[in-house]
Amino acid sequence: MQTKAYAAQSGTTPLAETVIDRRAPGGSDVAIEILYCGVCHSDLHTARAEWPGTRFPCVPGHEIVGRVTAVGDAVTRVAVGDFAAVGCLVDSCRTCASCGEDLEQYCEGPHGFCGTYNGWADGSGENTYGGYSAGIVVDEHFVLNVRHGEQDLAAVAPLLCAGITTWSPLRHWGAGPGKKVGIVGIGGLGHMGVKLADALGAHVVAFTTSDSKRQDAFKLGADEVVNSRSAEEMAAHARSFDLIVNTVAAPHNLDAFTALLRRDGALVLVGAPSSPHPSPAVFNLIFGRRAIAGSLIGGIKETQEMLDFCAERGITSDVEMIAMQDIEDAYERMLRSDVKYRFVIDMATLKA
Ligand SMILES: [Zn+2]
Ligand SMILES: [Zn+2]
Repeated sequence: MQTKAYAAQSGTTPLAETVIDRRAPGGSDVAIEILYCGVCHSDLHTARAEWPGTRFPCVPGHEIVGRVTAVGDAVTRVAVGDFAAVGCLVDSCRTCASCGEDLEQYCEGPHGFCGTYNGWADGSGENTYGGYSAGIVVDEHFVLNVRHGEQDLAAVAPLLCAGITTWSPLRHWGAGPGKKVGIVGIGGLGHMGVKLADALGAHVVAFTTSDSKRQDAFKLGADEVVNSRSAEEMAAHARSFDLIVNTVAAPHNLDAFTALLRRDGALVLVGAPSSPHPSPAVFNLIFGRRAIAGSLIGGIKETQEMLDFCAERGITSDVEMIAMQDIEDAYERMLRSDVKYRFVIDMATLKA
């Protein structure tokens, strides 16, 4: 099926309109007309070949919300006309231990999981094309139900990456009532981390380097806001956190945060820096049995749980809508952190 899309043809050419081929839906496939697609930092890194392994043409986008237009005979969970979503992965081996535990993002099969775009980056299968397009065809297992109202759909899109990436560590490390949880960096991921940790009932502390974000962080649900450049403000929270989720993708000194963990606390990294963080101070970890860990998006089952939780509580992202044609401007603004807090593409502008 010929489908309109926006693609980069190389790491140095701007994204532009093109036509891609989508497979006709098979028995377990769901065809979705894409209504909205969030803009993730990974889109930019991949389209500009800043990470190794980009296959061109590259059609980014893994925060997809749309309407089901066709389903295969074996599909049971969605029907034509339903709203549906697709996140960061569209396939995995489905037989390994991780897939068996609904943790497809950690698939241990020979090729790992298949990304929604730039999938099978090891070259083992056909390239996949993401949400900067008019439609997508995805196996039912990797399609999410959307139970938010129609008016919320654009603001639901970023839940599919920014939302689940913060939700998964919050759940895994037990964020909830009686727990003190820090969120480092108040951007696309961090603003969702604050909202979700707050909704889960934790005492939430937002860390930012800009005082201008202080009031916003309170509005998002933070109980306290700390300027991480202030040694005094940081010291006031020494040895007090159960969990700190760090969304910052730029290399920085992690010791300032491990020192804030209580005994057995964890600093969980979800930002992917282009060069390594400085080596952490081991004594900070030994004295207090503290941990530094990482976490990658979330599995399909967990993503559905997060979407349902958000639908029940009326939680969405704070978004700024853009036209598909403005994507390069949006990338430049994203690089300057000039967005509150996620760009979402109105895909009607591609179809027009
Ligand atoms: Zn993403
Ligand atoms: Zn697997």
